[in-house]
Amino acid sequence: MPRPIEALIHVPALAHNLSRARAAAPDARVWAVVKANAYGHGIERAFDGLRGADGFALLDLAEAERVRALGWRGPILLLEGCFEQRDLELCSRLDLWHAVHCTEQIDWLAAHKTHQPHRVFLKMNSGMNRLGFRPDAFRGAWTRLNALPQVDEISLMTHFSDADGPRGIAHQVAVFDTATRDLPGERSLSNSAATLRHAGVAADWVRAGILSYGSAPDHPEHDAAAWGLQPAMSLRARVLAVQALQPGETVGYGSSFQAESPMRIGIVACGYADGYPRHCATGTPVLVDGARSRTVGRVSMDMLAVDLSELPGAGPGSEVTLWGRASSGAVLPIDEVARSAGTIAYELMCALAARVPVRVSD
Ligand SMILES: *Cc1c(COP(=O)(O)O)cnc(C)c1O
Repeated sequence: MPRPIEALIHVPALAHNLSRARAAAPDARVWAVVKANAYGHGIERAFDGLRGADGFALLDLAEAERVRALGWRGPILLLEGCFEQRDLELCSRLDLWHAVHCTEQIDWLAAHKTHQPHRVFLKMNSGMNRLGFRPDAFRGAWTRLNALPQVDEISLMTHFSDADGPRGIAHQVAVFDTATRDLPGERSLSNSAATLRHAGVAADWVRAGILSYGSAPDHPEHDAAAWGLQPAMSLRARVLAVQALQPGETVGYGSSFQAESPMRIGIVACGYADGYPRHCATGTPVLVDGARSRTVGRVSMDMLAVDLSELPGAGPGSEVTLWGRASSGAVLPIDEVARSAGTIAYELMCALAARVPVRVSD
C-alpha cells in the first residue's frame, strides 16, 4: 500500500474561482496565470478547470509548450518575455505573446527574423521596481517597438506592489495613466488582489493567479469564503498511529510540546518532505475526519502529530486534511496554514513535494 497521503486538485473549484474573477472584472478579459506549474497544481491537471479563461499567462517557455500541447489555440502570454534572443523563435512558432520589459528585449526583436509579427505587452515599472521601463523611458520604448516590422500590436502593462494592502494601487495607477495617456493599445494592470479589491481599475485584461486557486490574496483581512473562492488543492493524509500521553510527556524532536494533562495524539503521514511547512508551530489548524483540531510539536520530515483528545472516534486510518477540503466537505483554508507558518498560500501550493501523489477530483 502506498504511503497514505495525497493531494487532490478540484477542477470544478478552479472553474468556479475563475468565474469570480469574471464577476469582479466583467468588462475585462481574464488571463489564467499558470506559472510555476499552475501554482503547484499541475498545468495539465488544472487546464480543464481553467480553459474558460481568455488566455494563459506564464513565465516558462516549456510551460507555454505544454499549454499548446493541450490543444490551447488562444492567447498565451510570457509575463517576463524572452530570456534570450532565440526564445523569439519559439514565440513565432507557437504564437506566444510576450512582455517586453527592457531594452535588450527590443534589440532581440529588432534582430529577429519572422514572417509573423508579434503581439507584445510593453511593461512599465510604475513603482514596484522589479521589471519594466520607467515612466520617462516608456514612450521611447513604445516608439521604438512601434517602428519594428517584427511587432504587430503593442499592449501596455504594469504590476502592483501593494494591491493586497493598505498602500493600495492609486499611486501606481496615476503614474501609469499619466505616462500612457495618449498611447493606443490594450491595458493590463491587475493581479488577483487588485481585481478583487480595486474593481474600478479600467483594463482590458486582468491577470488572475492566486484567486483561481482558491486563496484570498489579502488574507487575513478577507478569507477565501468572503471572496466566494473555493479551495482548488487539498492535502490529505491519514493517522498512522496513536499515542496516549501522560502529563509532562513531550512530542517529537526537541520536545517542543509538553502535555499538561492526559491526552491522545495521532501521528500523521505528512511531513516537511511532502511540502508541509516545518515552520508550523503547535496549534496550526488541521481537520481530523473533517473536525477541526491542531498540530502538536515539531513537524518532522515524514510525520507530524495532531491532537485527538477531543476526538474520541479518531484513530489509526482517520483522514487528516492539512489544507483544503476534507471528504466530509469541511474546509480548512490554506491561508490559515500559511499564516501559521509565517508565509503565504502561494508558497505552500508551489512547494507541494514531488513525492506526493496527486489526483484530479471534483
Ligand atoms: C504572478 C503574476 C500575476 C498573478 O498574481 P496573483 O497575485 O497570483 O494574482 C500577475 N501578474 C504578473 C506580472 C505576475 O508575475
